[in-house]
Amino acid sequence: MSIRVRFAPSPTGALHIGGIRTALFNYLLAKKHGGTFILRIEDTDQGRYVEGAEQYIVEALKWCGIAPTEGIGFGDGAYGPYRQSERKALYQQYALELVEKSKAYYAFDTPEQLENMRKTDPQNHVAYGMHTRLNMENSLSLPKKEVAERLAAGKPYVIRLKIKEHQTIKINDLIRGEVLVASNELDDKVLMKADGMPTYHLANIVDDYLMKITHVIRGEEWLPSAAHHVLLYKAFGWEKQMPQFAHLPLILKPDGKGKLSKRDGLKFGFPVFPLAWEGVDGFKEVGFDPKALLNFLALLGWNDGTEKEIFAIEELVDLFSLEKVNKSGARFIYDKAKWFNQQYIMKNSNEILANQLLPLAAAKGYTVSLQYLTQVVGLMKERAIFLNDFLNIGYYCFEPVKSYDAVMVLKKWKRERRPIYEDLSQLIQTLDLQDALSAEHDVKAWIQQNGLKVGEVLPVLRIALAGTMQGPAVFDMMTVLGKAEVVKRLNAAYDYLDRP
Ligand code: GLU
Repeated sequence: MSIRVRFAPSPTGALHIGGIRTALFNYLLAKKHGGTFILRIEDTDQGRYVEGAEQYIVEALKWCGIAPTEGIGFGDGAYGPYRQSERKALYQQYALELVEKSKAYYAFDTPEQLENMRKTDPQNHVAYGMHTRLNMENSLSLPKKEVAERLAAGKPYVIRLKIKEHQTIKINDLIRGEVLVASNELDDKVLMKADGMPTYHLANIVDDYLMKITHVIRGEEWLPSAAHHVLLYKAFGWEKQMPQFAHLPLILKPDGKGKLSKRDGLKFGFPVFPLAWEGVDGFKEVGFDPKALLNFLALLGWNDGTEKEIFAIEELVDLFSLEKVNKSGARFIYDKAKWFNQQYIMKNSNEILANQLLPLAAAKGYTVSLQYLTQVVGLMKERAIFLNDFLNIGYYCFEPVKSYDAVMVLKKWKRERRPIYEDLSQLIQTLDLQDALSAEHDVKAWIQQNGLKVGEVLPVLRIALAGTMQGPAVFDMMTVLGKAEVVKRLNAAYDYLDRP
């Protein structure tokens, strides 16, 4: 049997990274077994539909490199999602089938009647179901004739699932084991709404069945719905085709107190969306490598049983199994996400990074060659957490120094030494800057000849070249900047720092 999984978001806004993790775990299972990964947009709740959300979901998955492997084909090997709103007629037919089999019923109650029902119980425990349904207006409580008349007159109705009393519903969850739910606790969920649209529960089950889904992998927040879903499979007589369930652990706030929400991004000052949404930067804009993000997300709730943390996607595919997913919530630690990105920067070759950097540099208005960028990457690699750091922290590789470290200037910059520094400029003109070691040797020899100390001269050079003491090794910097630029910067520093 081939594995078929789906990621089934509702287009109610941007995906948060919890959604990406759900998509990733589905993707990994499908890839591991040569199966199929489907994207299904669950857009039957028109009240919650958000313009642009579907496109966002598609683009986010694409950016992460976990695109669907089946769907509405574009003819270029890419697949668009299935959309429930385009399958509307189909759900109706299934809902009616359940009414016919007496597994579901029509309910005509108005919003006011429903409100009154709830008011009968001060604790608000009352739900529409086995304990209340006969007091309400539906095809179980009303005479057959009246039901027929109401339907013929086009009175608005919903279709509800009829839940039997005193049953124990068993959900076999691949992560949580057996979960038992008493049917007496369950309400008669609406399957079809008055507007003719199915609810999540009905459309989700019908589609999982028709799309031959073998594993339902989704967030823990859907566990309470699973009992209804099992009952729906039974009501349709589809038990044999029922997929296996796996409810993923919650992603928790950094302090472990509750589920990470979309609002936490702004609250804690880190991205929670893969791509920018409504003016808030996503992981992409902050500068994450999508591979590093996936690696980080894979470890939110899963590990391979060892201490290993860095996994290429191919390794994840190879090692992933639902049995190794934890039950308990996984805390979202942003510093850990940054650590992963830094590891990916270190892992990538200078050439690959330079290629990724090229468009970013161009966007900043820096016209530089790939070769130069490769050198800059080599220079700054240990200092960069994000790709943009090469351009931000290392801006002085692309434009003149904007500010000089005032404390160091005060300590090390001696006006009266200007003639000596001019002599240093002269020396630099004669050096072979292709080779950092020989440049170092020559400059140090010069320092000695002039009766100076290394600790007096190198900081001055460093400040002139980068404005800061934090930069890379000074002779490496000199080789990258080149002779003309080094001399120009020394002169600029004299002029600026020696001004009266
Ligand atoms: N539409 C649901 C969501 O927004 C799908 C849950 C499921 O995977 O069954 O997450």
